[in-house]
Amino acid sequence: MTAEVRKLSVKLGFHSCGFARARHLPENEKSLREWLGKGMHAGMNYMANNIENRSDPRCLVEGAQSVIVLLHNYFPEKDLLSDDNYTLARYARGNDYHKVIKRKLKKIIEYLKEQDPAVTARGFTDSAPVFEKAWAAQTGLGWIGKNTLLITREQGSYFFIAEIITNQLFDYDVHREPDRCGDCNLCIEACPTGALNVRKLDARKCISYWTTEQREGGLPEDLREKSGNRIFGCDICQEVCPWNKKAKPTDEPDFWPNQEIAGMEREKWETLSEEDFKRIFHLSPLRRLSFCNLVRNVNFVRPNLKEGNRPSG
Ligand code: SF4
Ligand code: SF4
Repeated sequence: MTAEVRKLSVKLGFHSCGFARARHLPENEKSLREWLGKGMHAGMNYMANNIENRSDPRCLVEGAQSVIVLLHNYFPEKDLLSDDNYTLARYARGNDYHKVIKRKLKKIIEYLKEQDPAVTARGFTDSAPVFEKAWAAQTGLGWIGKNTLLITREQGSYFFIAEIITNQLFDYDVHREPDRCGDCNLCIEACPTGALNVRKLDARKCISYWTTEQREGGLPEDLREKSGNRIFGCDICQEVCPWNKKAKPTDEPDFWPNQEIAGMEREKWETLSEEDFKRIFHLSPLRRLSFCNLVRNVNFVRPNLKEGNRPSG
């Protein structure tokens, strides 16, 4: 069954698949509580909910025995967005990954149930309280870098993480990737806001947090200049990572950059109507941000794109 699921995952476009026994992760629970205690979660109050469920996948699926972790590449072939225009994090240039990945997870779960109708399984991708990066590390797919992201030797960090929690037993991966960051500190040094400490992200200072998660109110004035031309997410701590030199373009058409979005001139972003927003972004992750917040983000960094000024950061 383990080999069959691996084979099916490749067929569905995942580039890695790992298996771990479902269990409590006390170290990760401790780190989460410390991070919350320091207020580094900013406005993400949901991170403080369901800590028990987050720390133990058996709370999410009754009788869970296994966590299957799957990685899906989203790295775009060409960087169609230019420096003198507004820019989006690479993961947000195609269609919303939640729907695309969930469709694929459903196929694996259907397969498991066809083999054994007694199987119970649930699939998630950034959609439930699960320590996704920790589980990926548990299956030996990669290590958690100093930029807090999961890094793989083969592909770097431009991928989505998904998991299936199930009562099915598998052959578990025993290999663990060692920390391969070594003396490198490039991500920490490159972060324009000082949001990174070693493997700790202070969301209160993170451009990605403010531009994608902050749904009410304005953005902090001291981040304006440092945000450069970023209106949704920030890739700086991935761009500088040497392991991302190995990134290969995704072959999943849903994650290829949307041509209309990639072709939007600066003026189009600045004069976008709500009707256009609904039409252009209906399949995009930006749809969840809302029209008003996208306008807010554009206006926030607009002074950084003054004629003749290169965006900072
Ligand atoms: S996403 Fe940007 S702001 Fe956030 S930690 Fe990385 S480099 Fe810093
Ligand atoms: S930039 Fe360097 S320190 Fe940061 S995650 Fe990559 S290898 Fe690790």
